[in-house]
Amino acid sequence: MGKKRRGRDRPVVCISCGRSVPRTKAVAFEKRSRYSTDLKGKEEDITMFSSAEVYYCISCAKHRKITQKKKKMLERKRERGDREWMK
Ligand SMILES: [Zn+2]
Repeated sequence: MGKKRRGRDRPVVCISCGRSVPRTKAVAFEKRSRYSTDLKGKEEDITMFSSAEVYYCISCAKHRKITQKKKKMLERKRERGDREWMK
């Protein structure tokens, strides 16, 4: 296979249905999870945040209403005048 390294068109796998879709057509979604480590005997309560970017194909994204969520996120950003995402 004549593989050309084109970073932009790297296919991604939909985490919902496992279909591989071109990145340009996939819907990226940031998944945030919080871990809290409760250390016994210590007063410190360490809370760790981890975020991972996951991808959905269009149909899964629609099904899970991720596109709507993203729209809302963008609207909120626009309201704040945050234009960094438009770069
Ligand atoms: Zn899918």
